[in-house]
Amino acid sequence: MTVIAPGSTIGIVGGGQLGRMSALAAARLGYDCHILTPESDSPAVRVAAGAIVAPYDDPAALAAFAEAVDVVTFEFENVPAPAVAWLAERRPVRPGWRVLETTQDRILEKTFLNGAGIETAQWRPVRGADDLRAALTDLGTPAILKTARFGYDGKGQVRLTRDSDPAAAWDALCTEAAVLEGMVDFATEAAVIVARGPDGAMAVYDPVRTVHANHILDTVEAPAPLPVSVLDQARTLARRAAEALDLVGLLALELFVTRDGRLLANEMAPRPHNSGHWTLDGCVTDQFEQLIRAVCGLPLGSVALHGRSARMKNLLGDDVNTWATLLADPAAKLHLYGKREARAGRKMGHVTWVES
Ligand code: AMP
Repeated sequence: MTVIAPGSTIGIVGGGQLGRMSALAAARLGYDCHILTPESDSPAVRVAAGAIVAPYDDPAALAAFAEAVDVVTFEFENVPAPAVAWLAERRPVRPGWRVLETTQDRILEKTFLNGAGIETAQWRPVRGADDLRAALTDLGTPAILKTARFGYDGKGQVRLTRDSDPAAAWDALCTEAAVLEGMVDFATEAAVIVARGPDGAMAVYDPVRTVHANHILDTVEAPAPLPVSVLDQARTLARRAAEALDLVGLLALELFVTRDGRLLANEMAPRPHNSGHWTLDGCVTDQFEQLIRAVCGLPLGSVALHGRSARMKNLLGDDVNTWATLLADPAAKLHLYGKREARAGRKMGHVTWVES
């Protein structure tokens, strides 16, 4: 197995805060990062050694990017397939296309999860209003209709009740493919992140409790206050998914914990994840360093906690203006992403508290 040694250049596709924190971790290990993003002045570009600002499918940009880097990874999974295939012919691309393809599409993702023996909410693929009517008859209401592709943070979702008009709900989604999910009456939500190297070695972080507000992650509590058997089961599911995908990199698995302690997978992300930002301050090896280690074929680092527990809160939109108050708390670790504009709901930073 070839190690991509410190001193090499890592290509990161995507310019957001996940790319920024990955590039900072890479720099600590002596790597340079080169960012490919369509967005000018993005958070990742401002901390990286190099960048190409162009659409993901721009042939000249892809050629220059491949030329500049030794390995390619992603901070964002909705990258067009031909672009990834083109890069993969020239450089190691980690995680590989199969992982991205599976996690880009909720139909493929749920089919994969169920095939790997990982339970999800009851679901049906939906490709039109007639499918939706049939799926509603099967699953009942309340239910959630989600676009198969390009949905995030609750975008591209419609909640359906007994009184909803299926045709209107289908039209509102403006999509060709979707899934209908039964509503899960969960006790809590959780997430678990696993890293896997090219040699198959894995490291799994403590599962965390996640709390969402308006469909966007709000707070994270690590470790999740759940029975050890449930935490172990969450780790097992994450490992199983990573192995079945032959993942090289990171995989975050979002879970619903039912009132009787069952775990249902909601979705997966093949990259660093917001539910793992606490690891920057709370763990010996944070998720961003672990990503760099995994994609470069370095040994994975310890996922042990520095203290007993950690808490993370996202700073959305104007929350960022509370930075002075947060810094006045000596126990708070503040991370700001340097975004120029604080739009409502936009992830601007986060703050972590570690309890020793
Ligand atoms: P998603 O965009 O699929 O990650 O959903 C965002 C959030 O919406 C989840 O974290 C849950 O809080 C909620 N949600 C999504 N799907 C369901 C479901 N089937 N049952 C209950 N809540 C859900």
